[in-house]
Amino acid sequence: MTAGTPTVLDDDGVRAWGRVHRGRHRVAAPAWPGEVEAAARASAALSGNTLARGLGRSYGDSGLNVGGGLVAMAGIDRAIAFDRANGILRADAGMPLDAVLRLAVPAGWFPPVTPGTKFVTLGGAVANDVHGKNHHVAGCFGRHVRRLALWRSDRGVVECGPDVEAELFRATVGGLGLTGILLWVEVALAPIASATMTVENQRFEDLDGFFRLSEAAADWPYTVAWVDTLATGANLGRGVFSRGRHAAAGPLTPHRAGGPSVPLDAPGFLLNRWTVGAFNRLYHARPGARFRGEQPYDPFFYPLDRIGHWNRLYGPRGFYQWQGVVPPPVARDAVRDLLVRIARSGEASFLAVLKDFGDLPSPGAMSFPMAGTTLALDFPNRGGRTLALMAELDRVVAEAGGRLYPAKDGRMPAAAFRRGYPAWRDLEQRRDPMLQSSFWRRVSQEE
Ligand SMILES: Cc1cc2nc3c(=O)[nH]c(=O)nc-3n(C[C@H](O)[C@H](O)[C@H](O)COP(=O)(O)OP(=O)(O)OC[C@H]3O[C@@H](n4cnc5c(N)ncnc54)[C@H](O)[C@@H]3O)c2cc1C
Repeated sequence: MTAGTPTVLDDDGVRAWGRVHRGRHRVAAPAWPGEVEAAARASAALSGNTLARGLGRSYGDSGLNVGGGLVAMAGIDRAIAFDRANGILRADAGMPLDAVLRLAVPAGWFPPVTPGTKFVTLGGAVANDVHGKNHHVAGCFGRHVRRLALWRSDRGVVECGPDVEAELFRATVGGLGLTGILLWVEVALAPIASATMTVENQRFEDLDGFFRLSEAAADWPYTVAWVDTLATGANLGRGVFSRGRHAAAGPLTPHRAGGPSVPLDAPGFLLNRWTVGAFNRLYHARPGARFRGEQPYDPFFYPLDRIGHWNRLYGPRGFYQWQGVVPPPVARDAVRDLLVRIARSGEASFLAVLKDFGDLPSPGAMSFPMAGTTLALDFPNRGGRTLALMAELDRVVAEAGGRLYPAKDGRMPAAAFRRGYPAWRDLEQRRDPMLQSSFWRRVSQEE
């Protein structure tokens, strides 16, 4: 197949997953790796810059380039080589984890690290160096990448890895898609003996309960907790702790496709303090909050994937995500402070997740995780009130010496970003001059 120049479409409806950030892009969708260069150049022709896009699961503006070009990479999604004996997969950067699972699980392999949705591409997983429930034992996604290929407007195709073009590799893992357009990624998968998970869910009644359970679960490969952000007083920080491991034996059947979808925007008032409060009380008290047994991997890792377009539940104004990490010596106090402020604000977070990260270093200079505790939250967009609360949370994280996650962000001040990511200047130096994003303009150009 010879490479052509894909058509460039003007699309003023491109949105981030949180649906607060949106805007006009000149979008080119290459169908073959050989068309990526032409697509990049054509989409950048008017503004001078463009950005690769995966499945658009980043919540804020790091996956957007409003007013500029976008190269939609999700159509380039083939497996290139799969070594079934050793679990080494080389695949196009547009291949989603959903497809990786369908290919790998029957052969007894699993993504080494997976975020809370399987609808992310390998390119997106590298660009944000994503983390999962096994961060304390496996680190970030980038630790498992052996090689990758990038197209750069100034160098053409470059292969890099931990031992080849190592500095470019270090900048690319967690490099927000700015060091080049990823063409393929080679990743070492993790062996599994079953598609089933052995799972234990336990309630905890306060924040100390979370830290006790988390410490006690250090030998479980997957841990995470849901936390009730509306609980106060003696119940501050109560929630449900979940730990799991791949079962020792069982069928290697991959997940099935499909499920219901939210067809339209829900009314904006659907997720408010009262409905979330009622949900939280029920969720904490439900029998499943004390579950011990086996479960397929799909609901264990990807509960939100069961409802297509669940982001429409927040209504037409969309929602913000906020995720911060705070280091161990101050983690307990800082997380308590965050929870007190959230409960006091009355802003309800539906999907509040708490997790202890481990101390395995990431190969990415700009990776988000660090040893400590991370809290991820969602807030329906209520304008100034919501922004004021997140600014308060930012201050707690800054004072604790932590940082915020760009994949979840659409508004952190430039100063907060630069303090959290001192390597940002190196990334700016290694940035492909043709690549740019709304997020990067905001945090690197603002004074
Ligand atoms: C329900 C849900 C749960 C999530 N859970 C987690 C979690 O547990 N842990 C976690 O770390 N993240 C989590 N995320 C965030 C998500 O994993 C990241 O935002 C991921 O990067 C999205 O991948 P994507 O393919 O959708 O990429 P996009 O969102 O489209 O793009 C993300 C970044 O990748 C770059 N990019 C994409 N493709 C390429 C390419 N081919 N070449 C170069 N750059 C490229 C883009 O330029 C952009 O900077 C979650 C998101 C959702 C919606």
